[in-house]
Formats: sequence, structure tokens, C-alpha cells
Amino acid sequence: MNTHRTSTQNTEYGTRNTYISRVACSVFLIALLFSCSSPTPTPQVFPTFILITQDPNASPTPTPFQPSGQINTPLPTFTQAPPASATSTITLTTAPTQTATQTLTPLPASRTPTVVSVTTTVPQPTTPLRTNYILSATLDFDAHTLDADETIRYYNTTGVALSDIVLSVQPNRYGGAFSLLAVFQDNVALTTYSLNDQRLTLNLSQPLQPGSATTLGIKFTLNIPAKANEGLFGYDFNQINLVDWYPFVVPYVNGWVLHDPMPFGEHLVYDVSDIELNLKTGADVVVAASAPAEPNGEWTRYRLYGARTFTLSASDEFLMSESAVGLVKIRSYYFDGYKAAGDGILYAAVQAVSLYSVKFAPYPYETLAIVQTDIHDGMEYDGLVFLASDFYGQYGGGAKNNLTSIGVHEIAHQWWFGLVGNDQALEPWLDEMMATYSEKIFYEYNYPNYGNWWWQFRVDYFSPTGYVDTPIYSGGTFRAYTNAVYLRGAHFMEDLRVRMGDDDFFAFLKDYAARYSRGRVTTNDFFNTVRAHTGADLSDVMMEYFSGSY
Ligand SMILES: [Zn+2]
Repeated sequence: MNTHRTSTQNTEYGTRNTYISRVACSVFLIALLFSCSSPTPTPQVFPTFILITQDPNASPTPTPFQPSGQINTPLPTFTQAPPASATSTITLTTAPTQTATQTLTPLPASRTPTVVSVTTTVPQPTTPLRTNYILSATLDFDAHTLDADETIRYYNTTGVALSDIVLSVQPNRYGGAFSLLAVFQDNVALTTYSLNDQRLTLNLSQPLQPGSATTLGIKFTLNIPAKANEGLFGYDFNQINLVDWYPFVVPYVNGWVLHDPMPFGEHLVYDVSDIELNLKTGADVVVAASAPAEPNGEWTRYRLYGARTFTLSASDEFLMSESAVGLVKIRSYYFDGYKAAGDGILYAAVQAVSLYSVKFAPYPYETLAIVQTDIHDGMEYDGLVFLASDFYGQYGGGAKNNLTSIGVHEIAHQWWFGLVGNDQALEPWLDEMMATYSEKIFYEYNYPNYGNWWWQFRVDYFSPTGYVDTPIYSGGTFRAYTNAVYLRGAHFMEDLRVRMGDDDFFAFLKDYAARYSRGRVTTNDFFNTVRAHTGADLSDVMMEYFSGSY
């Protein structure tokens, strides 16, 4: 996610609908008052965003195991082959009939390397030890309910015998939203489990030995809650956002890693997994998802390999524009009245994916969905990012705006969070600093005259202070936290780059992305990779920006 400035924005709601206008009216007036009366950024209280990250492990086929047969509802039939080999053609799904389609072409930008042929690596389920999720889910859009059968193939790669397995169940943090109907292990009903808030603990009848695997079955329903004012998970009048919506096994690092939520910042840590979702919903519902859709009998199937989480947003009012970078399909989902903004962020996404694919690593997934929703900010998930309706309303063209800068930030998280994961709670700078500085790289290469604007608009306006290595629990206010982690982080990256020189700096970025692709980095991993690319003395820079010695 991100922070953005609003105090000098001419916030102007569009015509999304009267409901929004009514609900937002008072907020809007307050925002206007702030705009007129004070240049000080308005402190913002942020929702409890939930972020999904990665890490389980793959299997030689997309369906490496049979669904635990004791789950009552038969699972849909899964086909054998993944869509394509690593760099071959991606089957593009048919655009929803009621959506508008516009194809944009990548911009030639002054300093951008020619990005016509971007190598695309389509993740394949070739890692036999990666956790594998298969879900079949029926979404009743109007009733706001979802029925799901989930099958998890879990491989014990922890190196120790496990007497329990812990899963994150984020919907259970919303009262009455999550109902656990049944749990199975290797086709046998499991009753020795406990579900407390976000934590589902399965107590195994016998320890799962290192190198062994087990199959878990979970049958659950969601009574999808109304979306909180600034939250993501839930429904509003024309949209359902399903984020962190299914139980997933959390990473194990000397114990199960499931941090406490905070009002701001992301608390979840994810291993990379392979995910298959078979979905049924209404014919008039358009689904924006983390992966391409393909027909599978009466189901629509989505397959996402090497990702931390599978996210979707459904609406009966989505409009859509699409483009592509190489084999990567990029779709922008927006609402009536926001086409210019929807196309504008699509254009920026093409620029960003093109540039980052060259500068960092090939884009990690087959598709990218950019989804308008009513939040205050932006939020990243694998293959899907959400952006605030306010940004669409404020958009007046060009690139000097929140829609572009925050949109590019969330897109950069596809590399720094998605491809290269981290502990977002304890070391949030590892993804947030990188995503913020990636904005700078975006403007530098696509709009070289906007550099000063970006530093002032996004960073120095806030006169940031604080240490870059601040956990989400130690930041104080949201503003102080983002100033330290995101904005001081951007200055650290700039100073690091000057100290290293451009050649070594960009070689470091590429090497870092390659070394830790589909993995999870730590602070020491970051600095070890830096030091592999420079012999420069960094001690003064480290002293200035970091509380710890690394
Ligand atoms: Zn972010």
C-alpha cells in the first residue's frame, strides 16, 4: 500500500453514483476545508489493510493430488496441462461482453530502453515442494455469500517435525463473516483444531515429519461483510472485493509467522504458492482477478503459480480497457464516468511494466488487473492492484497526479512484495521503500523533466524523518511510519545509488530480484546483495538512515 498527499489536490468526485456522492459528501467538504485552510497534510487514519504474500511450493502438475474425497461437494474437474510453457503463448480470456475495450501501445519514452520485446516468464508449477491450493467457490453476488471447498497440499520443508499447522483466516476478523464447516486431513475428518480470530491451528494426530506431505481439506462459507469506509474486504453497492479471503498456511521460521494486525501497514507474511480457483458466479458479474480466466465446464478457472495470494474483485458495473506488454495482459477495471482515468492508469501501467521488466526482472505473472474501488489509497496483491476512486476523480490527464504515482507504486509491488517477498510487518521497508523508489525510476525514465516534481510532491513535501528500518508496530502514527519507511527510504535509495554509481546500482537491483525470486528476503539479504555490487564505504549512509547495523 501507499501513502499519498491530498492536501493540495483538487479533490473532485466523479459521477460514480449518487450513493457515493451522498456518503462522500461530508468527507469531501472536510477535505476541501483542509485544502483551503492549511498546507499541512491531513493526517489520515488508515484501515486495516491485509496484504498477502507468499511462499508454499509447487508440484509437477497443476493437480498433484486428488482432492480429499471426503469433502462433500465434488470438486470440479481439473485439467492437466498448465496454460503454456514458460515463454509461449498465453491464452487470453475473452473480455466480458459489456466492457469497453481499448488497446493502448507502449510509449516511446526518452530514456526508456526500447521495450518492444520484453521477456515474459510465465510461472510454472515445477517446484514440487511448494504449497498448492485448489479452491472451488460459488459467489452469490447479490446475497454477498461465498461457499468454498479448499484443498491444500502442504509439504513440510521446515526441517522439523510439526505437531500442528497454522493457517491465516483473515475473514474471521470480521464478525460473523467466516464459518468453518469442516476440516479434513488426508481424507479423514479432523476435529482437533481451534479457530481464534485470524489464527486457525490444526493439531495433527501424529507429527508431520520433515520432508513429508499432507493434504488438508477445508469447507467454509463467507458471509461477506459490508466494506468498511476505507477497508478493502467486503461489498459495497456494486462491488465485492475478496482479499486474503481463504485460509492459507503461514510461513514457518522457527515457529509459525502470523503477526498481529495493525490499523496501518500490512501484517501478513506469505510463502509463495500455486493456486487454482474454480469460480461460479452470476452471468452479469465481471470478475477482475489475479490470473486469466479459462472455461472449465460450468466453472471459470483461474490458475496462478508462484504467487503469495489470489485476489479478486467482482462487480456488475465494471467497465474495462486492456493492453499488453509482451505476453502480459494488462486490464484496467473502472466505473462509468471514469474512462479517461481508467485509460490513463492503463497507459501508465504499460509504461511501468515495460520499464520494470527491463530494469528489475520479467513481470512475474500472466496478467495484471488494476481495479478502481473506494479506498483512500492503493493496495497491492499478486497480479491485481486496487486504487482509490478519489484518484480517478482527481485525474485530469498526464502523469503528475496520484493516480499515476500511486498506481505505479502498487504496480512496482509486483516485484517488491510479489516476486521478492518479505516480512511486511517487521521489515516493511523491504517492499515499501523499493516500491516508492520505483516510482522515482518510473518518472526518471518516462518523464525525465518531472524529477523535481516527484521529489517535492511525493517525498519532501512531508519533510520526512525517522529510520527506514521501522516496523509497522513502532512507527507511531501512519504519517510518521510512512515518512520513515517510504519517504526516508526513497532518499536512502537515492544516496545509495549515488554512492554505488548507476551501473552497479542497477546491476544490484537485477541481481537482487533474481536471487530472491519467489522467495522472501531479510534485511541482511538486502545488504549482502548491495555489498556484492559495491566496495564503497556505506557506513555514513547507514548511520543516517538505519537504526540497526547490518
Ligand atoms: Zn506500498
